Amino acid sequence: MFVVMRPNSAEEQVQNVVRLLSDMGARGHVITGATRSVVELLEIGNRLDRTKLERAPGVEKVLDEPAPILAADRAAGAHPLEIRLGGRATLGGRRIGVIAGPCSVESEETLLEIAVGVAEAGAVALRGGAFKPRTSPYSFQGLEEAGLQMLAHARERTGLAVVTEVMCCEHVERVQPYADVLQVGSRNMHSTPLLKAVGQQQKPVLLKRGWCATLEEFLLAAEYIIHAGNPNVILCERGIRTHEEYVRNTLALSVVPEVKRLSNLPIIVDPSHGTGRAHLVAPMSCAAIACGADGLLIEVHVDPKRAWSDGAQTLNLDEFRALMQTLPAFARAAGREA
Ligand code: PEP
Ligand code: MN
Repeated sequence: MFVVMRPNSAEEQVQNVVRLLSDMGARGHVITGATRSVVELLEIGNRLDRTKLERAPGVEKVLDEPAPILAADRAAGAHPLEIRLGGRATLGGRRIGVIAGPCSVESEETLLEIAVGVAEAGAVALRGGAFKPRTSPYSFQGLEEAGLQMLAHARERTGLAVVTEVMCCEHVERVQPYADVLQVGSRNMHSTPLLKAVGQQQKPVLLKRGWCATLEEFLLAAEYIIHAGNPNVILCERGIRTHEEYVRNTLALSVVPEVKRLSNLPIIVDPSHGTGRAHLVAPMSCAAIACGADGLLIEVHVDPKRAWSDGAQTLNLDEFRALMQTLPAFARAAGREA
């Protein structure tokens, strides 16, 4: 059981709840978050009086299960959170935002060519991995520091915000000076130390759904980041693993309207990892925008066949430009702009 305090309730009120619990024969464990505290019942006594707890000063509600509280806090009629990515770009506002770039940063020239191409086509941010979470230890693992410098250089040249992945706590500080948005990938969505670490710094976080995670687990991962002090979380649906082998992952677009119903966090869709097939990226991008996504994350390369990772799901610049031209109609149909 969890006693959820109101935002900024007084310490005295929290201690009062702990005292009440003790009088009821239970033990309360206080978890202090950036905006509110939660008292978890570690031992449930037999004199538990739920109504008394619910009526105690400073208490918002009492829950039976741990549930996303901050991440799934959508007040009726409230606007979604509009998150500034860096520069003038935002995500979550009326205008949909497209983040694009190569799976891995490979070289200064290639990255710059891609960055200029996606910027001209209307992308708001450049995404490229310098630390790559690869399934095989024999696959290319990323250029690390050199890759980060190339990203920062591409940002200077194009004005695009930079999004790049952090795989462990140690990366958070290393990546900070170079990136505008820190990405937590699908493999690390369950890494609670990493979620806390990105929650304790101020740059927005792009949180990808774990491929085996339920929507509730996805929102609870966002909860870790918000609870640690960083409210600027952008969710990213990137497909889940199912029995289907035709596609790399099954893109679960139904979470988009569901997140919109439950939460004010922006949600974008990654049809590249979500399908694993370049020819499916454009139709699934249009579908994502049509069902209310705030944006897209798309892998783009000057020559996908030669990409060092994920070439099969990567668009070339012509394909990306063509896709960007089809999006405004879908955005308008969904009441948005592109
Ligand atoms: C990526 O975005 O390059 C990536 C590795 O994606 P995911 O974490 O969704 O597998
Ligand atoms: Mn990739």
